[in-house]
Amino acid sequence: MPRGFSTKAIHIGQEPDALTGSMTVPLYQTSTFAQEAIGKHKGFEYARTNNPTRAAWERNIAALEEGTDAIAFSSGMAAIDAIARLFNAGDHILLAEDMYGGTFRLFDTVLSRHGIAFDTVDMRDLRAVERMIRPTTKLLFTETPTNPLMTISDIATLAQVAHAHGALLAVDNTFASPYFQQPLTLGADIVVHSATKYLGGHSDVVHGVVVVRSQDLAERLHFIQNTVGAIPSPFDCWLLLRSVKTLALRMEQHQRNALAVAQLCQSHPAVKQVYYPGLPSHPQHEIAQRQMRGFSGMVSIELGSRARAERFLTSLQVITLAESLGGVESLACHPDTMTHASIPEPIRRARGITEGLVRLSIGIEDTEDLIEDVRHALDCCGE
Ligand SMILES: *Cc1c(COP(=O)(O)O)cnc(C)c1O
Repeated sequence: MPRGFSTKAIHIGQEPDALTGSMTVPLYQTSTFAQEAIGKHKGFEYARTNNPTRAAWERNIAALEEGTDAIAFSSGMAAIDAIARLFNAGDHILLAEDMYGGTFRLFDTVLSRHGIAFDTVDMRDLRAVERMIRPTTKLLFTETPTNPLMTISDIATLAQVAHAHGALLAVDNTFASPYFQQPLTLGADIVVHSATKYLGGHSDVVHGVVVVRSQDLAERLHFIQNTVGAIPSPFDCWLLLRSVKTLALRMEQHQRNALAVAQLCQSHPAVKQVYYPGLPSHPQHEIAQRQMRGFSGMVSIELGSRARAERFLTSLQVITLAESLGGVESLACHPDTMTHASIPEPIRRARGITEGLVRLSIGIEDTEDLIEDVRHALDCCGE
């Protein structure tokens, strides 16, 4: 059987149903499974522990990330929490300093109360990373590209640094999707997704998934999945099985549109700065080219002031003002007051999250319509 990305997306875990020939994986909306005799069953006992629709999705996404196993959760945050539960009180975790805000909040307000120590560090600065590693450091956890400034960290080098210190490397791959970046093939030990974003792709599911290569990590994470119980519904897994069949097509169009928008913004006088790893002007463009097959659909732009950002956002006609990202429809947000408002202002400013910053999740609409919409809104911003 061929093993190209889309062939895997469409067929692995998605074989015709053995019982009926159903082309789509059946939605097993059940909480329990009949057993023939004590200890004699078909591999399924209770649906928190395992469900055939969920198992099909886990097989599928494991293959797309070049892992051996995947463990699905009710949200991206539940997936990240499960990774943290691999560790013990007294262990230390090093987080990227511009991690998704919810990830920082989880470590800062919840896990730290349970004795998990953590620090944040600029994962682009390898010397700083080395300096922050302690004897108790068990995990380096990075995100690349990051939100909202699209910084890139070097996965292969971070994996070497982590392993040299006896730690693991986890990568939040939400922004790239496995179509553009496969951290496990670059040496990472754990990949996590908010499948709410590109994997789901239609803004209709909240879901998270962890993918690993080691059997040991897979067993420990399945144990946490069953024991803690933050499992996804069978229906959400079924929607994801449907969504990934078009992941490659969607990602190609996200990227085509994002590059066109980024290029337009770069040449428009209303834009002070464009953040898109696919532009040669991006400071880590070279690393991005090395470790990614494409640059995805997220573009941020600096418009210089809150008033200009507001004029831009209210002038958009196709692109909708909303949080979240990765869906077929284009969305715009104002990180300073929306997605990143919970970060203290001095930290926001120090990182470049300004009042004039706008983040665009470029969808798969017709390129010309998006270009026209952005051009019109930029023209309305004023110089
Ligand atoms: C949205 C997001 C999360 C959290 O996922 P949920 O599905 O909302 O729980 C984690 N990481 C990144 C990069 C995200 O964008």
